[in-house]
Amino acid sequence: METFDYVIIGAGSAGSVLASRLGEDLGIRICVLEAGPSDWHPYIHLPAGFIKTFHMRSINWAYQQEVGPWTGGRSIYAPRGKTLGGSSSINGHIYNRGQRQDFDTWAQMGNRGWGYPDVLPYFRRMERRIGEGEDTYRSRQGPLTVTTMDWKDPLCEAFMEGAVSLGIPKNPDYNGAIQEGVSYCQRTIEGGLRMSAAKAFLHPARKRGNVDVRTHAHVTNIIFEGKRAVGVRYLKGGRGGTPVEVRATKEVILSGGAYNSPQVLQLSGVGSPDLLQSLGIEVRHALPGVGEGLQDHYAPRSVARVKNIRTINELRRGLSLWVEALKWATTRRGLLSLSPTMVYCFWHSGETAESSDLQLTFTPASYKEGVQGQLEDEPGMTVASWQQRPESRGYVRARSSDPFEPPIIQTNYLVEEVDRRVVVAGMKLARRLLASEPLKPYYAYEDFPGPKVQSDDEFLAAATERGTTTFHPGCTCRMGPASSPWAVVDDQLRVHGLQGLRVIDASIMPRMISANLNASTLMIADKASDLIRGKTAPEAVKLAGYA
Ligand SMILES: Cc1cc2nc3c(=O)[nH]c(=O)nc-3n(C[C@H](O)[C@H](O)[C@H](O)COP(=O)(O)OP(=O)(O)OC[C@H]3O[C@@H](n4cnc5c(N)ncnc54)[C@H](O)[C@@H]3O)c2cc1C
Repeated sequence: METFDYVIIGAGSAGSVLASRLGEDLGIRICVLEAGPSDWHPYIHLPAGFIKTFHMRSINWAYQQEVGPWTGGRSIYAPRGKTLGGSSSINGHIYNRGQRQDFDTWAQMGNRGWGYPDVLPYFRRMERRIGEGEDTYRSRQGPLTVTTMDWKDPLCEAFMEGAVSLGIPKNPDYNGAIQEGVSYCQRTIEGGLRMSAAKAFLHPARKRGNVDVRTHAHVTNIIFEGKRAVGVRYLKGGRGGTPVEVRATKEVILSGGAYNSPQVLQLSGVGSPDLLQSLGIEVRHALPGVGEGLQDHYAPRSVARVKNIRTINELRRGLSLWVEALKWATTRRGLLSLSPTMVYCFWHSGETAESSDLQLTFTPASYKEGVQGQLEDEPGMTVASWQQRPESRGYVRARSSDPFEPPIIQTNYLVEEVDRRVVVAGMKLARRLLASEPLKPYYAYEDFPGPKVQSDDEFLAAATERGTTTFHPGCTCRMGPASSPWAVVDDQLRVHGLQGLRVIDASIMPRMISANLNASTLMIADKASDLIRGKTAPEAVKLAGYA
């Protein structure tokens, strides 16, 4: 059996950073196991390729969620990256860290070293910010390039003016001192190409020679000796492939993402004894929190029909598309360098909220059935709105002992009353934004939810009819003290009650943050790399308001 110091399961956002950081010591040998193929496909790298990779089963787990109590009888699609870079290779490129309160809450939940001043140095250490930002918050030297949307569209400009007319200020850097306000979005894009975690971290790390990346390696389970994780079993080539075992002398690191990490633990006999026994899986270690607590952002997309100007819906067809393709080939700019959302707006649903609880995005385009996979034919513009820190929680549970069967994903969107209230407030604000004075020259009429929708109940009904995921699942292997019945890992990200095993990815978030999850997942992995190596953490940033 081959032996490495570390075996990392999953070459996604977190796995890529870990391979890079742990591999800085050339004496260390690392094996990275990735179920998907290499990230060669051009649509991964072309920013507008998002719309294609969204459904591309060769590089996407393409999960379906269970019907929820508030999803109008619908099963919501849940794409996840299955290639080098993981979801960062198919995501919408947005770089958004979240508010300081998010991380302070993690610390208040009993997780030492995870408050905002502690995590800020890791956000800074990773990035190479090109664009606005104060040095206290931003860095210009890291491996991950973060740029600002450079396509100035009259509809985007009018939308931002509309926000200002409603009292929402422009904010030059929502990843700086405060998040609230409106601005063009910041993106992990450089030179018109996607900056995935594989590109920023994994591929450079491979060149050092001590990181062995194996694609088409579907992990079926973790191998234990007593309570110690000693290796990993995978099928080379996927279903029906050759079984292979690799050993880890130091640690096994599970970075399979918020849906797959809990499933791999459960398949390995770690989880709720009731669940495992019902599936005929021998209980190796009882840990009821595994898979429980799933959170995600739920967003209805409000759409207005547009007049007097062309939207992306028309630009991506016929001759216009050829012109845009030529533009991209020669300048790396234009339509094909765009992200699915272009303007970001953070605001609060009520005047008493202590920090913004609403996130809204604007795009001069519209999607069939409100889902980002397919553009509509007639001109349209969209505002998606969601509650930043939902209270509703669901779960991820293995469906059977078959590692190739998709897990049961029940997010339980909107089951908490406060979530329903804030989502309705978000849709009302979206309506006001779309109908604002500066957008008037282009605004034809509201298509969804439509003028008939007026009362809170009607807005809520519309939300349940058309709301969808924003692709931010987390919190399924939550970090917390051993005394918390829901906790799966401690604040060093070691699995409670086991040795030689950590979970490091979006699943360890104890509570949903007010952001898209890629930036913070990268931060988690970077911080974890110091925890694993016993390195002293960079000095916490001194900020006003912190002792
Ligand atoms: C369509 C989409 C759009 C998004 N848009 C944005 C955005 O614009 N901005 C943003 O910040 N976030 C966005 N996100 C979310 C963000 O990309 C993810 O939260 C983040 O990448 C999660 O990182 P991770 O390391 O937890 O998991 P992933 O990056 O998903 O990595 C997990 C890896 O593990 C592999 N794996 C899983 N199971 C196994 C197994 N059994 N054996 C071997 N390998 C396995 C997977 O194939 C994958 O490569 C989006 C996500 C999606 C899907």
